[in-house]
Amino acid sequence: MAHCRKKCLSILLTDDCNLKCKYCYCGEERKKDSINLDFVKCAIDDFVKQGNKLFIRFFGNGEPTLEFDKIKEIHNYAVNIDGNAIFEIQTNGVFNENIAEWISNNIDIVWISYDGTTEVNDFYRATFNNTSVSNVVEKNIRYINTRVKELGVRATIGKKNLYKQNEIIDKMEELGVKYIYSDLMFADVGNKLYYEDEIEPLEYAKEFLKARKYAETKNIYYGSFFTINFDEKTNISCRACLPMPHLTVDGFVSCCDMGYAEGELQELIYGKYDKKNNKIIYDNQKIKNIQARTVDNLIQCQNCEIKYYCAGGCIGEAINENGTIYSIKEKNCEAIKFLAKELLGEKIPILHP
Ligand code: SF4
Ligand code: SF4
Ligand code: SF4
Repeated sequence: MAHCRKKCLSILLTDDCNLKCKYCYCGEERKKDSINLDFVKCAIDDFVKQGNKLFIRFFGNGEPTLEFDKIKEIHNYAVNIDGNAIFEIQTNGVFNENIAEWISNNIDIVWISYDGTTEVNDFYRATFNNTSVSNVVEKNIRYINTRVKELGVRATIGKKNLYKQNEIIDKMEELGVKYIYSDLMFADVGNKLYYEDEIEPLEYAKEFLKARKYAETKNIYYGSFFTINFDEKTNISCRACLPMPHLTVDGFVSCCDMGYAEGELQELIYGKYDKKNNKIIYDNQKIKNIQARTVDNLIQCQNCEIKYYCAGGCIGEAINENGTIYSIKEKNCEAIKFLAKELLGEKIPILHP
């Protein structure tokens, strides 16, 4: 299934976080803002009025569970509108038993970030005091895994785990995880710098492919951010180009996780909450511009043999690194094409978070 089939309303609950991951693309400055619930309710109402099935994704340019009370209130509001609403969360997995239990009882799809081996996770994903959280995360993965419809782990790959992707699979097997996606590090939104452990995409792809085959022997799905459209033709790379709403803590509607605040990535922002009148004002011209980011409109992709199985890649990364959504991240192309030779057409059992 092409990734654009993931038609969800993403709520970026807070920019505050309980971790200080070394490669975080959201930068170090945290205003510790949190989402306005009236804005969220307006957006849910609009989402349903626009004919969408209610599918809510809790996310953040921080850790969403820090706003646990708001998650519960949003959940309650949504369930009252549609008893069959679907809920997803992407979290760093650092929360207490009370939250773990609530997530298990109320969320359908859970994605937890964990970088594979305990040592690597300790290095990349620690607290502000550099203390380890791996035990807590592992405990929560084990607890939630057997209690929700789908649980997957999202691993970020850098120099420390590039050649340890088989070990990531072993670790996930030990934790009982059946779905894993890996991503490369993103450049920081704003200053566009990568953390020093950034790796070559092609080298990642080669190691990923070996680990994917290894995972198959263990009945584990190991997917990559590069392969998210490999089993269905599409002319847009993901939900961003539909666009699907992502609500920011400063009251904007963005089409992408990376457009999490006003300022840097303006092409991604297409709506604003009008607090006084309690309604969202959408910018139809910006919506048209976002929808025009199809692979057919990207000059660099015209002669690409896999253009409808990639569709130009992530627009958030494209605008962050090149200044416009009508561009691509060229350094990924060789790796995507390399993987396509082996994996094009293989079924994708779970959509990337
Ligand atoms: S948990 Fe997520 S938001 Fe928090 S520091 Fe790590 S990567 Fe950034
Ligand atoms: S970060 Fe990339 S894949 Fe994620 S929503 Fe934005 S464009 Fe889509
Ligand atoms: S691999 Fe590169 S050239 Fe081909 S469609 Fe994707 S972004 Fe465009």
